[in-house]
This record gives sequence, structure tokens and C-alpha cells, in this order.
Amino acid sequence: MTIYLDNNATTMIAPEVREAMLPFLQQEYFNPSSMYEAAKPARNAVETARRQIAQYLGALPAELLFTSCATESVNAAFFGTIRAAVFAHNARSKHIITTAVEHTAVLEVCKELQRTGFDVSFIGVDRQGNLNLGEFVRELRRDTLLVSVMHANNETGVIFPIDRLARIVKETNPNILFLCDATQTVTKLPIKMDGNFRHVDMLAFSGHKFHAPKGIGGLIIRRGTPCRAFMVGGHQESGRRGGTENVPYIAGMAKAVETAEATHGEDIQNIERLRNKLETAILQNIPYVEINGEGAERMPNTLNVAVHYIEGESILYQLSSEGICASSGSACTSGSLEPSHVLTAMSVPFTAKHGSVRFSLSRYTTEPEIDVVIELFPKIVARLRQLSPYWNQEANQPRHADTVGDSRAGGLE
Ligand code: PLP
Repeated sequence: MTIYLDNNATTMIAPEVREAMLPFLQQEYFNPSSMYEAAKPARNAVETARRQIAQYLGALPAELLFTSCATESVNAAFFGTIRAAVFAHNARSKHIITTAVEHTAVLEVCKELQRTGFDVSFIGVDRQGNLNLGEFVRELRRDTLLVSVMHANNETGVIFPIDRLARIVKETNPNILFLCDATQTVTKLPIKMDGNFRHVDMLAFSGHKFHAPKGIGGLIIRRGTPCRAFMVGGHQESGRRGGTENVPYIAGMAKAVETAEATHGEDIQNIERLRNKLETAILQNIPYVEINGEGAERMPNTLNVAVHYIEGESILYQLSSEGICASSGSACTSGSLEPSHVLTAMSVPFTAKHGSVRFSLSRYTTEPEIDVVIELFPKIVARLRQLSPYWNQEANQPRHADTVGDSRAGGLE
């Protein structure tokens, strides 16, 4: 039996999504750009999906570009913006703002740009994971080219106030472009490019985070945004991304959006209830744990637990041997022994940073599954603490309990 609690890494393909894709993997295999009648269903599927997804996000169909993943969308937004500035002979703008807790899809692009002479400001967060607004405002310049801020953090689920940040940016200078990496939030939080996201110029997302397959994503580029093609080739996507469209996956992603729209309220309520049940039980049953991001506005499906005095990897290994899939940090950085850059930016103490575990739920998570984790997790933690050099096995408490106190009382640093 597998209990899958790693939905921020990827999600199961929904059965109805698979069904929606099948015709385009079989008889409707035609190239949507072909002019003959037989290709019409493929062409229609792409354009219907574009209309459906754009409308769901409050954008125009022509503003939605299909990509292969969020990483591509982010790259297209950054490098497309820079190419547009170069074409406009706008050499003034070499300043970029992002946050210290972005996904590597953004951070690595920024570091690459730094190597080529760009000036990048990485805005910090506080102990709860909230963005340092004062620093954000101080770093913002009239000649800033691009601001890139994620909607919710993939590790902690902490939500950033995108509408407020984007408004501040546009009030400083309407020409500064604002990119939002909404990979963790599309279909989970309300996003309307003509509503709460009206000051956002570009929005990146990825289908496999909401029950579509891996290999399909999207980028909304608001009409009039100076952003040139990143992938140059054929005239697909109105010349903004060369390459034959991934018709089955595009149809699948539209289906995933449709289902999310139809079932959203109920699903999210249930997910949040189960997440809260797990969180409460962990806090009640295990000493020396805390919730990373507690006190901040958080995603309803994410629970990042800091377990003091043991290694996150050991916990994951033990959970895995019970069939429970969770994660420490993001899937892309797990496997490295480096502590999470997100928890480091939040100043999570050493004894907890290395012992952090992320559970992320989906609409397929069931109550009996959560009950199994509630039963097993405290036992796993107790067992591992018996082996930990930071733990006094005889007294069954941390070695330095006298000096550090209980972490829940805020005594650990
Ligand atoms: N941005 C965030 C916030 C993510 O969580 C992820 C994936 O975990 C990505 C970007 C990259 O997504 P993809 O693997 O689809 O490129």
C-alpha cells in the first residue's frame, strides 16, 4: 500500500484527464497546424483548451502560451523579457528582484543572469516565511527590469501577497514587469489576471501539479508585455514558441482545470481539514516539533514539520519503508545533503532544519491514510531519537534540554 503525501512534487493523473488525452494519443494524432480536415479535431482541442484555461485564469486566449513545464515558462519569461529589452535598445535595465525562497527554476536563472552582469536583489523572509516587505520596497528601483515572486512556496506553503506586491511595483513604475511563479497555486488558490492578479504581467504554471501529466505547462503573457519568443522556430503559438504543440497533454491539462473548477470548494475544504488533523496530532503527540511557516498564511494542502534532533532523510526512509511518500525540502533538492535554502532563509535552527519533513495532500488523500500517518509518525520519531547523538536516551529528552528548553516555547536557536 502506498500513501502518497508528496503532491507538491507531482500529482496523480486524474482518470478523467487520462480519458481526455486518449483520442489524441490514438486516432487523432494529426499535427494541429496541418490544413486538411483530418487535423481539425487536434486543432480544435488546442484552441478549446487555450480558451478554457485562459478564461479560468481571467486572461485572454491569445495571452496563454503552452510550454513543457513551469521551468520552461519561467525561462521564457526571463529571457524573453531580456531579449525584448535588448531589441528595444533598452540597456538601462539590468536590475532584477526576486526572493531568497524561490524554486530553483527561478533562482538558477537569476544566478545565471548575475554571471552575465545583471544585478539581482534576493529579498529575504522572516522566521515565519513572510516576505520582508520593507526590504522589497527599498530594493525596488525605477529602472528595475523585472520582479519575479512566487505565489506560494513549494516547501512551506507560505503564500505571498502577490496583488499587493505587484501594485507596489506598478506604482513605482508601470514599465517594470512582474512575473509570478504560480506553480503551486493554480487550481488551488483564486487567480484572476483580470481581478486579484490585474497588476501581474506574466504567470507561470505546470500541469503535473494539478493532476495533468508531466511535460505540459503554461505561461500567461499579458497583451502588450514586451517579451520576445524564447524558443524560436516554427510559427506555433503565434510565433512565441516554436515546436509542434503537445496536443494530448494540452487536452489533458484543460480537463484538469475543468475538474478543479467544478469541484474546487469542496476539495480544498476537505484537504485543509485533513492537513489540520495531521498537524494537530503531530503537535500533540511529539515533543520538540514545530511547523515551518506557522503563523503565516499557508497553502491548505501543505504541512512542513520541523522535527528537532533527527535527520529528515532518516525520517523519510522510515516513512518510505511503511509505504508513506513524503519529502524533505523540494523534490529537486532532496538527494543533496545541503539544508533547504528556504528553511535557511527563514533562520530555522540547525537542529530542526535538518529534520524537516514536508507532507503535501491532494483531493485523493483519504482520512484513513492520514490516520495511518498519525499513528506511525510519532513511533518513527521516537525510534530515531533513540539513535540520535543530540538525544539523551536515558532521560528521553534532548541532551541540552536544560539550556535550550522546549522548542515550542521558542527556546531553541
Ligand atoms: N516553481 C515551483 C514553485 C515549483 O514547485 C516547481 C516544481 O516543484 C517548479 C517551479 C518547476 O516545475 P516544473 O518541474 O514543472 O518545471
